[in-house]
Amino acid sequence: MPPKKKSVKLHHCPTCGMLVRIKDEDFPFCSDRCRKIDLGKWAMGVYKISSPVLDPEVLEDLGGLSGGQSGDSHDD
Ligand SMILES: [Zn+2]
Repeated sequence: MPPKKKSVKLHHCPTCGMLVRIKDEDFPFCSDRCRKIDLGKWAMGVYKISSPVLDPEVLEDLGGLSGGQSGDSHDD
């Protein structure tokens, strides 16, 4: 990583890409609106994934992929 100012961490809203300050009330989103939009995206993603998964073989395949994952923490 190139050397940058450490005093201020900059973060972009995952929904609209606007600059957000960590101390902002709606962090990591720039606003409550963007937070809800992002939550909606996740909800849609869950529906997209869960609806076609009716075949037991597919369920087993997914179980094999997601099982045994450790050390996946991203603590800053
Ligand atoms: Zn935003």
